[in-house]
Amino acid sequence: MKHRIVVLGAGYAGAFSATFLARQLHSDDFEITVVNAEPDFVERLRLHQLAAGQELRHRPLAEVFAGTGIRLRVARVTSIDAEHRTVTVGDGAGIDRLEYDTLLYALGSTIADHGVPGVDEHAFHVAARPAALRLRARLDELGEGGHVLVVGGNLTAIEAATELAESRPGLRVSLVTRGELGGWLGAKARSHMLRAFDRFGITVHEHTAIARVEAAAAIAADGTVFTADATVWAAGFAVHPIAAASGLAVEPNGQITVDQQLRSVSHPNVYAAGDSVFVIGDNGLPYPMSCASAGPTSKAATAAIIGDLTGRKVAPTTFSYIGNHISLGRNDGLFQLVDGDARAKPGALRGRAAARVKSAIINTAAWAVSHPTFGKPNHKYRLATTREHSPDVVAA
Ligand SMILES: Cc1cc2nc3c(=O)[nH]c(=O)nc-3n(C[C@H](O)[C@H](O)[C@H](O)COP(=O)(O)OP(=O)(O)OC[C@H]3O[C@@H](n4cnc5c(N)ncnc54)[C@H](O)[C@@H]3O)c2cc1C
Repeated sequence: MKHRIVVLGAGYAGAFSATFLARQLHSDDFEITVVNAEPDFVERLRLHQLAAGQELRHRPLAEVFAGTGIRLRVARVTSIDAEHRTVTVGDGAGIDRLEYDTLLYALGSTIADHGVPGVDEHAFHVAARPAALRLRARLDELGEGGHVLVVGGNLTAIEAATELAESRPGLRVSLVTRGELGGWLGAKARSHMLRAFDRFGITVHEHTAIARVEAAAAIAADGTVFTADATVWAAGFAVHPIAAASGLAVEPNGQITVDQQLRSVSHPNVYAAGDSVFVIGDNGLPYPMSCASAGPTSKAATAAIIGDLTGRKVAPTTFSYIGNHISLGRNDGLFQLVDGDARAKPGALRGRAAARVKSAIINTAAWAVSHPTFGKPNHKYRLATTREHSPDVVAA
């Protein structure tokens, strides 16, 4: 019987990992199944563009996985039984149970509501494609003069507010944040961003925490009422509760607790990558939930899986964090580098050049999920007859 590898999620981490494993492992010995809620590879980094009304390139997973032998199961994961090595999935046809020998968990994240009442019921968001499409439909209804309130002051909020304002100039866009808008940016980058907000006519309310969201307003902790035809919640990400409910060891925030090889500390045949995994970066800080982290964590998890299953040595992966690229509409942007303590460096690439760099990075990330070996030779490693988990880190 073949060794069954099941990959949960086909976003940046899951899709890349699955195609990489399929290219490195021998199909006589391994069977790889990917479960994903949607039939497409969704470029999550562009979902604010989708919400704003732009069309994104359609990337069917059947094409991404073509020729790899990967079995695609379009279904929603509802639970995992880590003790019995099963995953329960549901689709239009009903509920099914998949058995695995090795599991890679890469279900990503959704919005963090921070316990604020009304977010689930009344707010829109851009953290998943269905949600971005719901926001887009709402904006279509509003037409000229509609008022959109973006809640949040970090990357997604900045990108969403500027994208909506640029693509839909008839809307009134405001942003409310409990801290300083882009407060972590270097001085030059921040003033560039604020100029963009001015140019787009976005009203900014800083140091204001939203305590409740209603159908037509967001209410601040001090009682201030921000009326809005659509409130867009962009105040950070949180992981799905599935891992915590599965019996896997998780951190207080629900991210899966792993060893240096990204193996679950409670269930070593389970690996995690992307937003779902808790990793301390090379700078000693928790690795941020970002596409930039999905790459190294996928690389580490797949190297460990290959090492553990085929008896090969595992090279250490570095978890570096160099900075962020931020779009300010389609023709403007920022590329803010950070130092070893994750503090913004004084300079930043700004303007059209930064927008071009960002677009190139996003396109490369999408290309990489179907070209995970970047042109290097594929291998066909066989399943080791006796297997031991690889030691924490062994030099290549
Ligand atoms: C609008 C926006 C802009 C962003 N911009 C940037 C940026 O500029 N730079 C950056 O580094 N990061 C950015 N991010 C963050 C980045 O998108 C995520 O960190 C990254 O996608 C994480 O990759 P992942 O594979 O862990 O999760 P995802 O890419 O979210 O993939 C998870 C996959 O799992 C599937 N899934 C989820 N739940 C289930 C379920 N129950 N059953 C079956 N399938 C399921 C989803 O459909 C998805 O395909 C942005 C995010 C958003 C929303």
